[in-house]
Amino acid sequence: MGNHRFTLYNHNDAAIKKRWICTKWTSRKCRAAFVTINDEIVKKINEHNHD
Ligand SMILES: [Zn+2]
Repeated sequence: MGNHRFTLYNHNDAAIKKRWICTKWTSRKCRAAFVTINDEIVKKINEHNHD
């Protein structure tokens, strides 16, 4: 995954399902993201539009 970093998008303490988005989501409109349930990755979109 290189140097890409992700940030938690919806942090509801009650939710076990979390969506993590690339830190460049807004600034670069990068749409890479992944979803975790109980800290396990269940879905991944690993398409960064930047280095
Ligand atoms: Zn990205």
